[in-house]
Amino acid sequence: MPDVRMQDKEIFTPEHLEFRKTVRRFADTLAPHAEAWDEEGIFPREVFKQAGDLGLLGIRFGEKWGGLGLDWWWTVCYAEELVHSNNAGVNMALMVQSDMATPIIDELGSDEVKAEFLAPAIKGERIAALGVSEPGGGSDVAALRTTARRDGDDYVINGSKLWITNGTRADFVTLAVRTGGEGFGGVSLLVFPTDVKGFSIGKKLKKVGNKASDTAELFFEDCRVPVRYRLGQENMGFYHIMTNFQGERLIAALGCVAGMEKHVREAIRYGNDRKAFGKPLTKFQVWKHKLVEHLTSIEAARRLTYYSVDRFNKDPRSALREITMAKLFAGDLSQRVLYDCMQMYGGFGYTTEYPVSRAWTDARLITIGGGTSEVMKEILTKVEGL
Ligand SMILES: Cc1cc2nc3c(=O)[nH]c(=O)nc-3n(C[C@H](O)[C@H](O)[C@H](O)COP(=O)(O)OP(=O)(O)OC[C@H]3O[C@@H](n4cnc5c(N)ncnc54)[C@H](O)[C@@H]3O)c2cc1C
Repeated sequence: MPDVRMQDKEIFTPEHLEFRKTVRRFADTLAPHAEAWDEEGIFPREVFKQAGDLGLLGIRFGEKWGGLGLDWWWTVCYAEELVHSNNAGVNMALMVQSDMATPIIDELGSDEVKAEFLAPAIKGERIAALGVSEPGGGSDVAALRTTARRDGDDYVINGSKLWITNGTRADFVTLAVRTGGEGFGGVSLLVFPTDVKGFSIGKKLKKVGNKASDTAELFFEDCRVPVRYRLGQENMGFYHIMTNFQGERLIAALGCVAGMEKHVREAIRYGNDRKAFGKPLTKFQVWKHKLVEHLTSIEAARRLTYYSVDRFNKDPRSALREITMAKLFAGDLSQRVLYDCMQMYGGFGYTTEYPVSRAWTDARLITIGGGTSEVMKEILTKVEGL
């Protein structure tokens, strides 16, 4: 049965709870493979299709394209239940597909582009990636250097992208390119099919966490794509990327909070059984206090993320401050919470067999990916007029 607080029964209807059960069942089928997929550094492509069949890859997208046409509370159910897969890499890959690479296509793509890219992505038949970060830097998006030069009805693309999730097997990339002059006013977005001549993939990057997701460098050498694949107006891409980041950061915060709570609850179960000096670990006051402190902070993080969801549902432009705070708060909190959860298991916590050890290394990404904690603070200093 999904873990839903009494007070959240006002938010989540019986239909939401059914949907939660569907996601949970799916996550439970993935969990037994979690360790092996991390060791292999990849997971079967079929998982995208399975998620697509359940409607998880197009929760908020137009029904015309196969989406469910629902709001962010349904995405909350998806993000919170998916943590039970015990594999942050798989979850990240799926969320790049459902919530990072495709929302801009749903919002800005022409019908032709949606039919060609969005509809098969929602079904899980075509894998999507988001290409913003570059070897020269990820934080300063306005400084990106990959160029798209207009040539008749085509753009000719040259440059490279780094850290691209789903990068080794994406069928298309929602790509940020420079179509104009220096700075944020010269950036555009387009859909880039990876079967275009001149495109190549560098080696799969070895990472300390999120190992089952493939992360790669992508190279573009005189790659031609039609101008009609552009998303939104030329040179307006920076603004669209910043808006897209809101959803990306929100879903990252939601998954992070749910993951923290899951691991604290599991640590409590472990600590109830495991004895030291003649009594269960959870009978030591030091652990009791640590656990309730963490549950308190997690509850605060959850309320902040839920408040962000509410604002984002009502008006996406009104949630910048709260989403930025939620990502910052949850990301930083997860470093302390998962450290302590792992500590509870002693030596067992240091083995990859126990999900907590992988969760600890996976969580390290939350303060880096989708905008670092420092970048979140920079945004907040501007919002707060400091
Ligand atoms: C596993 C993984 C998956 C990823 N997936 C994707 C993806 O699918 N698509 C994509 O486009 N990107 C992806 N990224 C890239 C990610 O978004 C960037 O790593 C991130 O934005 C930081 O950029 P950077 O690594 O270039 O660090 P840099 O920008 O070089 O920053 C280095 C350090 O400097 C700090 N810093 C930067 N600016 C400031 C400032 N103004 N004040 C104080 N400190 C500052 C940063 O916080 C950081 O600590 C992924 C990254 C990883 C590790």
